[in-house]
Amino acid sequence: MILRDLIERKRDGGRLAPAEWREIAIAAADGTAPDYQLASLLMAIFWRGLDAAETSALTSAMLATGSTLRRPAGAGPWIDKHSTGGVGDKTSLILAPLLAAVGVSVPMMSGRGLGHTGGTLDKLESIPGFRTDLTLAQAEAQLKAIGCALIGQTAEIAPADRRLYALRDATATVECIQLIAASIMSKKLAEGLTGLVLDVKTGSGAFLPELERGLELAHTMIALGAAAGVPVVTLITAMDRPLGNACGNALEVVECLDTLGGGGPPDVWTVTEGLAIEMLQLARPTMSAAAARTTLRAAIDSGAALEKFRQIVAAQGGDVSAIDAPTPEWARAPEIGDVVADRSGVVLAIPPRPVGHAIIALGGGRTTKEDRVDPRVGIVFKVRVGDAVRSGQPLATIHAANPSALAEAQARVRGIVQLGEVGEEAAMLPWVSHRVTSAGTEVLP
Ligand code: URA
Repeated sequence: MILRDLIERKRDGGRLAPAEWREIAIAAADGTAPDYQLASLLMAIFWRGLDAAETSALTSAMLATGSTLRRPAGAGPWIDKHSTGGVGDKTSLILAPLLAAVGVSVPMMSGRGLGHTGGTLDKLESIPGFRTDLTLAQAEAQLKAIGCALIGQTAEIAPADRRLYALRDATATVECIQLIAASIMSKKLAEGLTGLVLDVKTGSGAFLPELERGLELAHTMIALGAAAGVPVVTLITAMDRPLGNACGNALEVVECLDTLGGGGPPDVWTVTEGLAIEMLQLARPTMSAAAARTTLRAAIDSGAALEKFRQIVAAQGGDVSAIDAPTPEWARAPEIGDVVADRSGVVLAIPPRPVGHAIIALGGGRTTKEDRVDPRVGIVFKVRVGDAVRSGQPLATIHAANPSALAEAQARVRGIVQLGEVGEEAAMLPWVSHRVTSAGTEVLP
């Protein structure tokens, strides 16, 4: 392979053959391709795009550079969910035990906080002792034993993507739908899945805020799944405001425990249930949505989903007594203070991006990969978009590491929660707006 010639062809709008993508992926994974040539190729792809066959060939090529989870012969369905990320987006922590509790194995490989969005691994690691650095062999054994493993991307998975993603990050070539789809699917297909549900966020706090771009990503990933024989269903869900009340790692785990126990904010359940029904129907294609809803509700009401979460915590080294505690100490920041409304009115907006940045400023997220996250800090909103509020009413509670961080976050959050006049109408996206499958896009009622 002469990489220079392939860059030239892509630069001029040509296409590369599957064998050429394979050679590129191998050279990216084994280090024989230099950064400057891969970076140039990525920029050529960014401007010229990839057609469907090239996107599929790149995905398979990146997948083949690493190992995969092995689903034992005769095992039941393995279903995962992937979200494009958001603020307060905590559904993975509820979905994994919930589906495992109804007999669907969930090999969930998650990421860390990225930009203004939170990450499932950071949330899980706020539970004392919880380990996400399982090897693939450990994950396989845990899946067999309890039907679920919540792990990070190991070095064994799609090493070509790991190298290319780092270069994309450094060369401003992340925002290319085909590269995003190939990157995500090369890792998801390594889980040995029999089905995948995608949660593509839309709205100002989403990675791709415009609905059209979200739908394009959904269709691209559905096609990649189909090419690999893995059915993919996408729900488009709202990220024009945070999901749930709690934003911040440990605070979100506590909200998930509430939801698994049958409580929690209604919007968290709305989005989680929508995704869970799709996961269950992928596992059991003859089951109706109504039957799936009843089955899932029963797993919450009987305590089976919460018990499965306890099993996962125990299996992954976490302290089960910590999550059983009625007031979890591990989720308590040293400084806690409210933000109150300075006038009466209606909550018109709580934009997620500044909320995410406020959490990073509190120490609950990262500005560089090396930053340590303080799991205890964050914001719990006391009001939702559309609520009427009175002067002096608490809008949010801030959990901070020290008094100056608390004061700074209080000032920020006061500016983030936008109040309008009494009677003014707040504009909001529906929590779950579209369902996308290989058959097309359905607008949900
Ligand atoms: N997440 C990924 O894993 N890859 C991308 O390209 C974007 C988000």
